Amino acid sequence: MTDTLTPPTVAPLVAERRLVTAVPGPRSIALQERRRAAVSAGVSSALPVFIERAHGAILVDVDGNQFIDLGAGIGVTTIGHTDDAVVAAAQAQLADVVHTLFTITPYEEYVRVAELLAEHTPGDFAKKTVLVNSGAEAVENGVKIARKYTGRSGVAVLEHAYHGRTNLTMAMNFKAMPYSLGFGPFAGDVYRAPNSYPLHDGLDGATAAARTIGYLEKTVGASDLACLVVEPIQGEGGFIVPADGFLPALQEWCTTNGIVFIADEIQSGMARTGVYFAAAHFGLVPDLVLSAKGIAGGLPLAGVTGRAEIMDASQPGGLGGTFGGNPVACAASVAVFERIERDGLLGEAKRIEAGLRPALEALRERYPVIAEVRGIGAMLAVELLDPATRAPRADLVNAIAAEAAQRGVLVLTAGTYGNVLRFLPSLALSDELLADAVSVLDEAFAAAGA
Ligand SMILES: *Cc1c(COP(=O)(O)O)cnc(C)c1O
Repeated sequence: MTDTLTPPTVAPLVAERRLVTAVPGPRSIALQERRRAAVSAGVSSALPVFIERAHGAILVDVDGNQFIDLGAGIGVTTIGHTDDAVVAAAQAQLADVVHTLFTITPYEEYVRVAELLAEHTPGDFAKKTVLVNSGAEAVENGVKIARKYTGRSGVAVLEHAYHGRTNLTMAMNFKAMPYSLGFGPFAGDVYRAPNSYPLHDGLDGATAAARTIGYLEKTVGASDLACLVVEPIQGEGGFIVPADGFLPALQEWCTTNGIVFIADEIQSGMARTGVYFAAAHFGLVPDLVLSAKGIAGGLPLAGVTGRAEIMDASQPGGLGGTFGGNPVACAASVAVFERIERDGLLGEAKRIEAGLRPALEALRERYPVIAEVRGIGAMLAVELLDPATRAPRADLVNAIAAEAAQRGVLVLTAGTYGNVLRFLPSLALSDELLADAVSVLDEAFAAAGA
C-alpha cells in the first residue's frame, strides 16, 4: 500500500564543511537587501548568511555553503539541528492539537514537561513548574514568584549577568550597550553586586562571596531581598566560571536570610555541561531553576521550576500566558529529554570537552593573546587580552570570528568587553567535524594576526 502522505524525500545532508561561493554568497546578499528594507535595524545578525536547512551540527545557507555550527543558536539546538526524534514528535503533535491554552483546557504534554523538569533539576523535594515562551519571560516569572512568596521586592543580580530584553530583565543586565541604552525608564529595586571572575579578581570563592554578601548587606539589606538570581556559569558575560565555593556561600547566605536563590540556567542548562543543570557542578540546590534555550530542541519554550511551596504561593490565574507551554513545543521538549536519557547525551558533552579543551589549550600555547581557556562540557570559551597591557582584544575576537566564517565555521563572541570567543556546539558535533573546526580556528587566529 502506498502512503500518499509521505512527504517528498530530501537528499540527506552530508555532514561536512563545504564552501561553494564567497561568504555571504549572492543569494544571501540579495536577501540581506530585502531584510534591510523590511526588518527593524534594532534586530542584528552576527553573520548575514541566510540559512535554508540544518541538521546535526551543520548549517546550509541559501547559496549551498555548509557551515560547522559552533553556536547552536546560542545553545538552543543542543541535541542537534532538526533532530529526528524532535522533528517526529513535533510533527505528530502538530497534527493532533496545536493550541488550546493550558489555562482554559489542559493537555498531558505540559504536565509531562513539568514532571521531567522536576525530576532533572537539582534537589530531592516536591517541585512544581510554570511554562512560558522565552528565557526573559522565565526570569520575569521567577522574580514574580519569589516576590509573592517572600512578600519582599528587592532583586539581587551579579555583575556581568545577562537575563533578557524585557523591561525587568533590562534592569537586571550588566551591559547597557546594546541591551538597555535609551530604553528606560527601568524597573526599580534591582541591585547589582560583584561576581566572582577568577581571571580578573584573583579572589578565592570564599573571599569573593564575602565581598558580594557584604556589598548587598550594605547597599540593600538582606531582609529587603526577595531573590538573588545567578547564572551558575555566566553566558553572555563570557562563560565566566566562578571560583570554587563562591556560589555555595551565596546560596547559604540566601537560605539563612529567607532570600529565594534562583539559578538562571537558560544557557548553562539542559545537558550542555555534561549534567542536566550546571548548578550540580557547584553542589547547588537552587530554590528555583530557570530553563529555556535548549529545552525544546529549537522550539520556543521556557520554564520556572522549584520548591512546591514557593511555586504555589501565587494566586490561581497569576501565572501563565496565551502561548505558554504550547503543545508542540512541549512534545518537542519531551523528545529532547528522552533523547538525552536514551542516548546518553550527557556523555556527549563530556566527549566534546575532551576534544575541544586540549585543542584550545594548544592554541593558547601558540597565541599568547589567549589569557584563559575556561568552561565546562560543551560550554567552553577563550578570553583574549593583550599580553602586555591586559587590555581586552574585542577587535581580534571579531576578526577571528569573521575569518572563521569565511572558512565555513560559525563561532560566537561574548563578554562584557566583547573579548571572548565562546563555543557551545550541539552535542551532535562529531569528532571529525570538531577536528576540522579546530584547524579552521587555528587558521583564523593566524589570518587575524593573533
Ligand atoms: C538567553 C538568555 C536569557 C534570555 O532568554 P530569551 O529566550 O532570549 O528571552 C536569559 N538568561 C540567560 C542566562 C540567557 O542566556
